Amino acid sequence: MAASDLINLSGLLDDAKCFALVRQHRWPEGVRCPVCDSSIVTRDGHDDTQPCRQRYRCKACSGRFDDLTGTVLAGHHQPLRVWVLCLYFMGLNLSNRQIALELGLDTSDTQTMTEQLRRGLVTKAPAVELTGEVEIDEVYVVAGHKGQPEQVAKRGGSGAAAGWQARRAAARWRRTSHRSLA
Ligand SMILES: [Zn+2]
Repeated sequence: MAASDLINLSGLLDDAKCFALVRQHRWPEGVRCPVCDSSIVTRDGHDDTQPCRQRYRCKACSGRFDDLTGTVLAGHHQPLRVWVLCLYFMGLNLSNRQIALELGLDTSDTQTMTEQLRRGLVTKAPAVELTGEVEIDEVYVVAGHKGQPEQVAKRGGSGAAAGWQARRAAARWRRTSHRSLA
C-alpha cells in the first residue's frame, strides 16, 4: 500500500476516540493529577488547537494539565492519530523504516517515537524538584538536521557526539579530582 493511502487512513481516525483511548490507558480509574496524584480534578476546557484534548485543573495543588501532559505523546509535534497508528504498526511488527514510510515520517523521528512508546506511554519518573545548590553538567546540543541527516553527519554529527562524551568524561573527572583534593 502506498504511503499516501495511509496518510488518508490517518485522516480517517477519530480524534475524539484517540484521546479517549489515551485517557482510558493512563487513568483507568479516573483522571489524576500528574503532579500530586490527587483525584480531585475538574475539567477546564479544551486545548486551543486540538478540540478533543481535554484540559484539567487540580483542586489540590492548583496544577493545570491535559490528556497528554507527562506522556511521550505530547512531544515531537505529531498529531495523536499518528502516534496511535505508530503503535498499531508496532503491534504488526513493522520495522522503523517501514513505519516511517507508511506514515511519511523521517526514519530517525520514527525511531525516537517507537523507542519512547516501548518505554511506556506515560513517563515514569516524576519531574525532579531541585533545591539548594544545583550543579548542571556540561551540555552540548547538536542542531536539528531538518531532514538532512547526511549533511549533519558530514559536518561531524557523530564525531561531535563522541567529543561530547569525552568532554563530559573530562568534566566528571575534574569534579572528582576537586572533591578528592578537598
Ligand atoms: Zn495536583
